[in-house]
Amino acid sequence: MEAHNHMEKKGTVSIHAQNIMPVIKRWLYSDKDIFLRELVSNGCDAISKHKMLALKGEVPESTDEYRVDVILDEQNGTIQITDNGIGMTADEVEKYIAQVAFSGAEEFLAKYKEEGDQSGIIGHFGLGFYSAFMVSSNVVIDTLSYQDGAESVRWSSADGMEYQMEPSERTARGTTITLTISDEEHEFLHRHTIESTLEKYCAFMPVPIYLNDLVEPKEGEEPKAPVQINDTTPLWMKAPSEVTDEEYKAFYHKVFHDYEEPLFWIHLNADYPFNLKGILYFPKIRNEFSGNEGVIKLYNNQVFVADNIKEVIPEFLMLLKGAIDCPDLPLNVSRSFLQNDGYVKKMSAYITRKVADRLVNEFTNKREEYQRYWDDIHPFIKYGCLKDAKFYERVKAALLFKTVDGRYLTIDEYKEANGGEDCKTIYYTTDEQRQAQMIALFTAEQKDVVVLNTVIDTNFISFYEYTEPESLKFQRVDGGTDDLAETTEADEARTNALQDKFRKALGDEQLTVKLQPFKSDEIPAMITVDEQTRRFSEMSRMFNNGIQMPEQRTLVLNEKHPLTQYLEGSTDEEQNALICAQLLDLSDMAREPLSGERMVDFLKRSNALLGMLIKKQ
Ligand code: ADP
Repeated sequence: MEAHNHMEKKGTVSIHAQNIMPVIKRWLYSDKDIFLRELVSNGCDAISKHKMLALKGEVPESTDEYRVDVILDEQNGTIQITDNGIGMTADEVEKYIAQVAFSGAEEFLAKYKEEGDQSGIIGHFGLGFYSAFMVSSNVVIDTLSYQDGAESVRWSSADGMEYQMEPSERTARGTTITLTISDEEHEFLHRHTIESTLEKYCAFMPVPIYLNDLVEPKEGEEPKAPVQINDTTPLWMKAPSEVTDEEYKAFYHKVFHDYEEPLFWIHLNADYPFNLKGILYFPKIRNEFSGNEGVIKLYNNQVFVADNIKEVIPEFLMLLKGAIDCPDLPLNVSRSFLQNDGYVKKMSAYITRKVADRLVNEFTNKREEYQRYWDDIHPFIKYGCLKDAKFYERVKAALLFKTVDGRYLTIDEYKEANGGEDCKTIYYTTDEQRQAQMIALFTAEQKDVVVLNTVIDTNFISFYEYTEPESLKFQRVDGGTDDLAETTEADEARTNALQDKFRKALGDEQLTVKLQPFKSDEIPAMITVDEQTRRFSEMSRMFNNGIQMPEQRTLVLNEKHPLTQYLEGSTDEEQNALICAQLLDLSDMAREPLSGERMVDFLKRSNALLGMLIKKQ
């Protein structure tokens, strides 16, 4: 009998709700489309509940296919979401829809006020049924409970605050929500809007979802058949052993609209300590620091929540593409809550660990394949090391350095191949073309030169040296000549005399000259730039922080070269000036192109030198 009392009834939801509704409407302006997620997932939940009851034998199994239908009727301006789940009795409608709905929202509001955090909360707050009012001028629920003797009931409301209840004509178990879309939200009556919204939020929900479009068929045409828009068993829910490479790739192409093949992937499948499933793909990274190439979709029991939630997925993993499903996450709370949540932090650490372990595993067991990806994944790995010390600790054994002749060496292997215990320095180039001459000097001495030519490398090597003070030091090929010279000792008097000559000839009192016997007599001189001062000035330039620190440059003269020896003895000042200027320019050019006036001078002088050749004859 009691149910009947509710049957003809007007009411208002709690007083709090009346305050909340206008606020919700305003806030959710940007994320309005979530009403579909909420209503469709309510339908899925109602079906799952019915399935559970059937499984326990409490109700007979459903004879119809379990399904949720979204029915678009542009002509009449409505969208219906209908399910054959457990339905609701009149009491339940009163209790769940009219009263309970706002308790969550109130908490949300309180939290919001405290923190004044306007951004990013919306997608995480499960607004539930009431989100329907963001886009509707009227909302009707027609529902019939599975319970024996239940009567169908219709609840309707124009604003979410005042409602009416009356008997419904519904005869089938389940619930239909009918939204009359308000004029301002007309866009939601377009098929493509609804279709893309369903694809965004519902693509992997666990119950078949069909989109029905009630357009009048044209003469001679069949009415449009409903289309299923979701895949009820997304790949991440399967056991990794049951999934083929082809399936992983197909899933990648489909979900991330990337035509390139992924490099490799990690299938996370844990029940303990976290209930967490997902697949992370390593994509080919095209543009090292655009940073936004990756996308990690977060799901809660197959319901899409949001992309790239940095509280759950460590920032550096955002370069990857993937889907993560965490049923246990408290996702209907604000992001600031997630930030402080110990569980979320542990889960984030767990994901990082899994990624690191996988990389090390690839390195250890499939080294050749791993080396093939290295060029693509190393910026990601280095970035991860900089961002997360624990990640670095885990992957450091799998860090590789590519030599100019295309081998991939770990630090230990480099050391082993370059003098063993005596090896203190790892030589690198930032530009194989430009620094070719200096690279050749080192390779002629059987020294490996590695290529570190990406933006992250400068940061990474500084980080590495700081973290591993006992390990090798990095030095660019123009950073010094010690390994190129027979001895590092120089005759001070001779050095000073040459330095004076150069200073005078070039009119540069700051120039530092060093005299060394090179092992090779191919080149007369070389400019070296102190590694630390060069790095510092590069960093300043990169961050444009205005701090100027000059690079410490030295002109190293090859004691064994005839030109050096000639200069030491010569008193022909005019000729000395010519040779000194030319030597300095040539040495500089081995590092970087001359610019402007220096280039003009160099060309003029070179032509003059050629002219002198003819005169001599
Ligand atoms: P939530 O889904 O987060 O609990 P909602 O406001 O979306 O919040 O829904 C409130 C309650 O109303 C649900 O928990 C459920 O009991 C009931 N409900 C909503 N939609 C349906 C439906 N389609 N079928 C059956 N019950 C529903």
